[in-house]
Amino acid sequence: MDRYDITIIGGGPTGLFAAFYAGLRGMKTKIIDALPQLGGQLIALYPEKYIYDVAGFPKVLAKDLAQNLIDQALQYNPTVHLGAKITDMRILENQLEDEGKPSQYFELDTEDGSTHQSYSILLTIGIGAFAPRKLKLEDAERFEGKGVEYFVKDKTKFGNKRLLIVGGGDSAVDWGLHLHDVAQSITLIHRRDRFRAHEDSVKKLFDSPVDIKIPYEVKAIEGNDHVEKVAIFNNQSKDREEIPVDYILLNLGFIANIGKIKEWGLNIVKGDIEVTSKMETNVTGIYAAGDIVTYPGKLKLIATGFGEAATAVNNAKTHIDPSAKAFPGHSSDMEAPPGSK
Ligand SMILES: Cc1cc2nc3c(=O)[nH]c(=O)nc-3n(C[C@H](O)[C@H](O)[C@H](O)COP(=O)(O)OP(=O)(O)OC[C@H]3O[C@@H](n4cnc5c(N)ncnc54)[C@H](O)[C@@H]3O)c2cc1C
Repeated sequence: MDRYDITIIGGGPTGLFAAFYAGLRGMKTKIIDALPQLGGQLIALYPEKYIYDVAGFPKVLAKDLAQNLIDQALQYNPTVHLGAKITDMRILENQLEDEGKPSQYFELDTEDGSTHQSYSILLTIGIGAFAPRKLKLEDAERFEGKGVEYFVKDKTKFGNKRLLIVGGGDSAVDWGLHLHDVAQSITLIHRRDRFRAHEDSVKKLFDSPVDIKIPYEVKAIEGNDHVEKVAIFNNQSKDREEIPVDYILLNLGFIANIGKIKEWGLNIVKGDIEVTSKMETNVTGIYAAGDIVTYPGKLKLIATGFGEAATAVNNAKTHIDPSAKAFPGHSSDMEAPPGSK
């Protein structure tokens, strides 16, 4: 089995930038992600939203930032293993006569049945492997993929369609704002009489053509092979109405879970992994960065994840090769990456 210098678990923005840095440091690198595509939250949760606080980009669409990070990371040809959620980890003695390699290595199992070996691990698992919160309604499950959606991967799918958005947080409100130009009509329902979204976005929503109904809930979904109609009701007055729709976008939040990684013996504080200023966890050889970590003053932002990725990888390099310096030098003084265009 191929043994890697570093295995990066989580291909979100932090993991992708870490993969670039690991390539720059000449490390044999593997990225593993539970999702079928790279990009983490940028691609899975908000590909069509603009981000305004990434250094060097006055504004950038989440999907474009993800693509740039993927292009940058893949220049050093890391191995990429997708659709594989990491579960178990074992620490084993290194029997190979690899000069200068650590005396121990890690073996990792994934839910797809594969096993991976690595001298160091970088956990960039964000909020954990995430799954959308489902509507407690049998009909919703029956129509999944037939008009009931949890993610917007491509907003053209809703072009000229009648859409019902369900939810009262930032995602529901933002999708209302981003899709009303594309969809034929949008009704947005929320079960409470107040939204949990950014105040300014809620104000914009009320000024938009979106038909807002609060406090409303879904009662039933009807259709043959695809959603055709939805019954909604006011949970205070009990008034009920039926509206013809082509798609229902459920934005009810996410249940994120770091799963079995909780059992690895890492220091976990309020669900986050505690790290030092070198982004080391309490287990030698395991580093962590991005949304999953905690330290005094931690901010969960893309920008901070980038810095943490560089710190983690460069310190992991010194774990693999104690003669190496943590400081990588300046990339502007180096040769272009092999995959550089
Ligand atoms: C709607 C929305 C808008 C946002 N807007 C901004 C913004 O404007 N600016 C900003 O700075 N931040 C923003 N954020 C936050 C930002 O997206 C996160 O800070 C960032 O994605 C964290 O990156 P990450 O790489 O640490 O984790 P993630 O992006 O969460 O990536 C983690 C990856 O790890 C994978 N994973 C998890 N567990 C496992 C496992 N056990 N096995 C294998 N793979 C696993 C996941 O599938 C995922 O792909 C926003 C977030 C949301 C939801």
